[in-house]
Amino acid sequence: VTFESLGLNEQLLSAIARLRYKAPTDIQRECLPHALSGRDIIGLAPTGSGKTAAFAIPIIQKLWDAPQGLFACVLAPTRELAYQISAQFEALGEAIGIRCLVVVGGEVDRVAQAIALAKRPHILVATPGRLADHIRSTKGFSLRTLKFLVLDEADRLLDLDFGTHIDELLKAIPKERTTYLFSATMTTKVSKLQRASLTDPVRIET
Ligand code: AMP
Repeated sequence: VTFESLGLNEQLLSAIARLRYKAPTDIQRECLPHALSGRDIIGLAPTGSGKTAAFAIPIIQKLWDAPQGLFACVLAPTRELAYQISAQFEALGEAIGIRCLVVVGGEVDRVAQAIALAKRPHILVATPGRLADHIRSTKGFSLRTLKFLVLDEADRLLDLDFGTHIDELLKAIPKERTTYLFSATMTTKVSKLQRASLTDPVRIET
């Protein structure tokens, strides 16, 4: 599999070339054909494997096909990872004018976040606690238009006790959606989350 053989749009292919990704990594080679055909995916892959692009590329391709605000939500365990994921979406989606927003906790201003959410970014990258907070208390904000949910580093999400926030978010996100779950390890908690959130997933291990 090459990037060119996957039927990606030209803007995405030129972004991939600009980033000097010459060939898909193992996880990308396994994931991309299934993801582009619309399947849910569970990917067992560590950081450094190219897993971010493995989920960002199909999401950007589908966004290009049918653009809309609040298209995809990525849940990440830490603010650092959230910013890294957002930076990759921006690098890959720049040519199609992608708008990404990072919503994390800590000292970041909730009101400023609420205003930014009202502008309907295409891609929301969030830590679960702060996003659940906005679902509860930010008037007019909802996740009802989402087409994609990504649970990144699911084992760490659950180790950090984000489980109840994730359950709350799953109730606020349409069931008719595509879901990708990535994890470095397969634990009991991860497989429970998998059963609660994915539909007939393709399982990929590299
Ligand atoms: P990740 O595992 O998503 O954290 O990615 C690790 C690093 O690999 C990031 O800096 C990516 O920009 C880079 N990367 C992702 N896909 C490719 C690829 N196909 N070829 C070369 N580098 C890549």
